[in-house]
Amino acid sequence: MKRILVTGGAGFIGSNLCDRLIREGHDVICLDNYFTGRKDNIRHLIGHDHFELVRHDVINPYIAEVDEIYNLACPASPPAYQYDAVKTIKTSVLGAINMLGLAKYCKAKILQASTSEIYGDPIVHPQVESYWGNVNPIGIRSCYDEGKRCAETLFMDYHRQNGVRIKIIRIFNTYGPRMDPNDGRVISNFIMQALRNQDITIYGDGNQTRSFQYVDDLIEGMIRMMNTPDDFTGPVNLGNPGEFSMLELARKIIDLTGSRSKIVFKPLPSDDPRQRRPDISCAKDNLAGWTPKIQLEDGLKKTIAYFETYL
Ligand code: NAD
Ligand code: UDP
Repeated sequence: MKRILVTGGAGFIGSNLCDRLIREGHDVICLDNYFTGRKDNIRHLIGHDHFELVRHDVINPYIAEVDEIYNLACPASPPAYQYDAVKTIKTSVLGAINMLGLAKYCKAKILQASTSEIYGDPIVHPQVESYWGNVNPIGIRSCYDEGKRCAETLFMDYHRQNGVRIKIIRIFNTYGPRMDPNDGRVISNFIMQALRNQDITIYGDGNQTRSFQYVDDLIEGMIRMMNTPDDFTGPVNLGNPGEFSMLELARKIIDLTGSRSKIVFKPLPSDDPRQRRPDISCAKDNLAGWTPKIQLEDGLKKTIAYFETYL
């Protein structure tokens, strides 16, 4: 049994990770400031002997004796991270410094939830880990993209300079139960709109693409990554290489929900990446053949069933 700290543990991915770690018999400390996370996501774990909940903001130092840290604290949806852009950068950068400091102090292994956003609007397609990206440093997405890029730099520097055992994963668009129905990301928006027979809002012409990964596949990859030998730091892409345009996604969701919604077109936010698809060879080679198991349609059905509980 290990003692494991999950920052951002009350969020969508964090709460699914806490469930898995508790199931495996570990002692879990879930740390969150509830900016985008919710107690409802982890309510069923409250009172469990091996689960502790801490209200804390990662921009401030935190001390606990732990064996492993999963650093997930950061808003992930564009409206949420743009709401207070300065706070978003502080969360990524000061949060990384504080958690790396903790890892150094208690000799813990630490995993950073980085993102496909570090590739920006990518010119290389599909994206391989060796690609340095095409990121606007001064746009409305920069607080998130550059914050996450700086966090990767900090991870590598703590590793080289202080021997901290680090793991970096670059997560591609992930969806599933416990996403906030109002957080503004495309899957939650389209499903909620479809279930309510409201207009489905496509930003731009809908030809931009994303690759959607079901949350269970991601969690499996995260755990395998944490358990790799110390000399393997990543970064590693974790995503599902199936690539869909937003028009295809909207049609699929209308179909699966049997909705009467119409598709409408809204302005495309600036710096919205045109295309995104992970090259997952590195994950396959280093994470014991890891590969996503749940295809979009199956994952959407489970996610639709979850969002139906909000109607
Ligand atoms: P989420 O918004 O549901 O979860 C983020 C959690 O972090 C929330 O519980 C929030 O309250 C908490 N948090 C935010 N700022 C904090 C702070 N300063 N101190 C403490 N807690 C704070 O988003 P998610 O989709 O679960 O994303 C989790 C992590 O994975 C994030 O770091 C995100 O950047 C990364 N990621 C997610 C995706 C995705 O598609 N879901 C893709 C790439 C990377
Ligand atoms: N998007 C859309 N309609 C919405 C929400 C998002 O067409 O109601 C588009 C958005 O412009 C982007 C894609 O869907 O091109 C994915 O958006 P999301 O915010 O989920 O993730 P990210 O852009 O960070 O990959």
